[in-house]
Amino acid sequence: MSEATVIGHYINGQVQDTGAERYSSVFNPATGQVQARVGLASPATVEAAVASALAAFPAWAEQSSLRRARILFKFKELLDSHQDELAEIISREHGKVLADARGEVTRGIEIVEFACGAPSLLQTSYSDNIGGGIDNWNLRQPLGVCAGITPFNFPVMVPLWMIPLALVTGNCFILKPSERDPSASLLLAQLLSEAGLPDGVFNVVQGDKAAVDGLLQHPEIQAISFVGSTPIAEYIHQQASQHGKRVQALGGAKNHMIVMPDADLEQAADALMGAAFGSAGERCMAISIAVVVGDVGDRLIEQLLPRIDRLKVGDGRAAGSEMGPVITAQHKAKVEGYIDQGVAEGATLRVDGRGLSVPGAEEGFFVGATLFDNVTAEMSIYREEIFGPVLGLVRVPDFASAVALVNAHEFGNGVCCFTRDGGIARAFARTIKVGMVGINVPLPVPMAWHSFGGWKRSLFGDHHAYGEEGLRFYSRYKSVMQRWPDSIAKGPEFAMPTAQ
Ligand code: NAD
Repeated sequence: MSEATVIGHYINGQVQDTGAERYSSVFNPATGQVQARVGLASPATVEAAVASALAAFPAWAEQSSLRRARILFKFKELLDSHQDELAEIISREHGKVLADARGEVTRGIEIVEFACGAPSLLQTSYSDNIGGGIDNWNLRQPLGVCAGITPFNFPVMVPLWMIPLALVTGNCFILKPSERDPSASLLLAQLLSEAGLPDGVFNVVQGDKAAVDGLLQHPEIQAISFVGSTPIAEYIHQQASQHGKRVQALGGAKNHMIVMPDADLEQAADALMGAAFGSAGERCMAISIAVVVGDVGDRLIEQLLPRIDRLKVGDGRAAGSEMGPVITAQHKAKVEGYIDQGVAEGATLRVDGRGLSVPGAEEGFFVGATLFDNVTAEMSIYREEIFGPVLGLVRVPDFASAVALVNAHEFGNGVCCFTRDGGIARAFARTIKVGMVGINVPLPVPMAWHSFGGWKRSLFGDHHAYGEEGLRFYSRYKSVMQRWPDSIAKGPEFAMPTAQ
């Protein structure tokens, strides 16, 4: 790829020339160089994508769920055989290390595997002879054209939270990927087409706010799925609701790990290293706060310091790298600005990741692993999502204070507790006000047949992503009652019907 490479849209089975539209630069975060330009959709491009999806919808909705699932089976095989290529694209544009990128693809494939069960997942209930010769059953029918707007940090996995379930339930789908790492969306489109998906059923519109607003306001779009930061999630939820659409909008996070004094500290420290610094902290499930209970703080820091020292930071595609760069120069400056703020607010900076220079990649957007001690609930580095490799320790006297701290935070995406005490673990799982809970599991990302989502200001709307919640989101419930002319008829009835 080079600066001259242009990443286009995918509409009606064709990669579209972006013509005279606006462009955004796509960087290689490990080198700091521009490697391509992505077209930013105009209203006409959004219109073309919606028209293509609308035209494809009637025939696709009429397909049996088994035939739709067969296309997804084929898609899954193609994802398997292109896993390395997808991981390479992710790492090149996002910066994460290749092993992590492969893991992302695997977690996406699992949603496809789940969706392949559509014929049985979409089975509904039937009540024979509820009275007077009447039967009652329900259907789950497609909504029409749905759209998904996705963040930069999982350019394959998050679109795959949406696409398989939206398609297998009979909808057409328009993806608006992040403009910062857009290439993987086109490979997904190509693989869906190779798997036999009819043209127009899946489309990609590249772009920024203008494209998103076009989708939000379009009268023919029935549902919007969004994953990204909280201010935009809230905006999407309001706008989509105002325009009469079904909407699920997953937002930002500030995830805590409670470490109890009885925890296995080696296990907790290893878990924290991966959860805080994996993917340079750019995961919505990343742990950015360790809540250390009683006297465990100093002992945990002793475990963390040598591990941070050994952490290998470098180009995500280089052998041996454990942590890559952050996504852009602006984001690097933002993360480093938070470290400045933490120092100014009085937190104790134990490891400083500012100013890191990686030999041979001096222009890359690298921030080193950073560790703060004595963080308090009033500090901005506690309250706000940094989305970088910055871990803060908050010291609390007991378990109840730890739970109260987590429950008072505005975000409620993920949380975990490290302990050997079953009673504490049970009380934690039952009382914590967070959507995804781990007990000695640092990143409790639910499996495909469960559902993913946070509480509080980490999710707007009432459906979590994928799993059963995803199937419900992408299908409309219909109840049907039937009685045939030869069954008992009693003449007009004016009272509310009741079972007889
Ligand atoms: P972002 O909110 O900046 O962008 C997300 C999407 O919204 C992108 O496609 C972008 O083009 C679009 N967008 C950006 N600004 C917009 C605007 N003003 N109007 C309309 N659309 C706009 O998020 P990001 O930086 O790409 O991703 C990181 C964020 O996503 C973090 O906050 C992270 O916690 C969150 N995230 C959440 C989850 C979750 O499941 N809760 C998962 C992954 C990421």
